[in-house]
Amino acid sequence: MLSTLLRRSLSNLKRPGKNYNILVVGGGIAGPALAFFLHRYGMKPVVVERASEIRLSGQWVDLENEGKEVAWRMGIESKVRQKIAEEQGIHIVDSTGRPQASFDAHSFGEKDFVEQIEIRRPELANILYEHIRNDVEYVFGDSPQSIDDRGDIVQVKFASGNVREFDLVVGADGIHSKTRRLVFGDESSIAYADLYTAYFSIPRSDSDGNWVRFYAAPGGRSVALRPDSQVRTQIYLCFRSKERGYEYLGVDMQKHLLQKLFADVDFEAPRILRELPNSDDFYFNTVGQVRMDRWSRGRVTLVGDAGYCPSPLTGMGANVALVGAYILAGELSRHQDYNEAFKQYETWMRPYLAEAQKIIPGSVRLALPKTRTAIALRNAVLGFVFRPHIARFIGKLVTSKASRKSVLPNYEIVPTS
Ligand SMILES: Cc1cc2nc3c(=O)[nH]c(=O)nc-3n(C[C@H](O)[C@H](O)[C@H](O)COP(=O)(O)OP(=O)(O)OC[C@H]3O[C@@H](n4cnc5c(N)ncnc54)[C@H](O)[C@@H]3O)c2cc1C
Repeated sequence: MLSTLLRRSLSNLKRPGKNYNILVVGGGIAGPALAFFLHRYGMKPVVVERASEIRLSGQWVDLENEGKEVAWRMGIESKVRQKIAEEQGIHIVDSTGRPQASFDAHSFGEKDFVEQIEIRRPELANILYEHIRNDVEYVFGDSPQSIDDRGDIVQVKFASGNVREFDLVVGADGIHSKTRRLVFGDESSIAYADLYTAYFSIPRSDSDGNWVRFYAAPGGRSVALRPDSQVRTQIYLCFRSKERGYEYLGVDMQKHLLQKLFADVDFEAPRILRELPNSDDFYFNTVGQVRMDRWSRGRVTLVGDAGYCPSPLTGMGANVALVGAYILAGELSRHQDYNEAFKQYETWMRPYLAEAQKIIPGSVRLALPKTRTAIALRNAVLGFVFRPHIARFIGKLVTSKASRKSVLPNYEIVPTS
């Protein structure tokens, strides 16, 4: 009797959102997180990923505050904690490898003062995938060729020739989102930083130690080595360039380009370039921010890098992807009208993104100066700033902002039967 009454009253509280069937384009970070929450709220997400399997490349991404909170709300905290980085610190080195400035990971005084953790992107992508793969339909090796919003449904034609209909489509397909191009036009919404990055691993050598070593070479180029394990060292190569489109070259061409651009660089560059052709986890991209006046058109919306990539310069990419996924799914769960859900999603996200997309002015020039004189001057200034007591003072200044309490809304889970 009591249980019948309880069931009846609970069914009155049923979640107002509809049980949409939703295409999620992209199986990176935002895509699986969105699919997780949609599934949890009783909707039917289908994730389509262009690659033939989950892409397990890339280096480290940061999780902090709201981003970390979303991950914990997904129930993946213990898996993430097993994989987080134990950082020593960074040496800014000269061409002989001699440290010019050193930044101990704990020199800000309080461990974890920004409540930030680092995890390898492939580990995070894999944890997310494993967390939902049994509950959500995944289609690998396919991609939308056209997206036709017919008012009452969206018809999607895939590269494979398949045609399917969905209530809603969400582009979670990264900075160069095809969903965005198909629905919103060209890529004019990317604000380029005139910077390219490449990440890959090489075999470890005894000289690699425990610290990250960062070297800026003249011409706006940088080489960084991050010891990863007993056998591997991760490499970050960056170069400034106003040329557009290198990210669309094939991997072999991109590796060849790096061989050419870094051929005269000293420090560890010759060793890195020797190993580069053999790297099997190579990732190369342009650095830029996606800025759009709106993220939704009709029954299509965007999440993560596709709609609002903050760029690796902010370290916020994974955070905004997780938070965007959480808010979008939550709003869809509590509104009958998807237009209202999209509106509320945007209303919540805009102020969060205004902070997340902030880049310290001149940071690219500071990290990768063009001339030897500018590099020497930069190193001298950093040598001063990174003295422990100054670092601690800076730490106190930034702590109040960065360690604020997470302000995520709650989307209550209400049993529906
Ligand atoms: C392989 C890879 C490595 C990365 N490494 C780093 C790193 O080391 N450091 C860092 O700060 N950021 C890295 N990033 C970017 C980082 O993951 C994102 O900034 C952030 O996590 C937001 O995630 P996202 O899901 O929005 O986009 P992404 O992580 O870029 O995921 C987008 C997904 O969509 C897929 N996709 C693209 N186009 C289509 C299409 N037309 N149809 C179907 N699927 C499509 C992609 O294959 C990818 O799996 C990497 C991204 C990728 C894809």
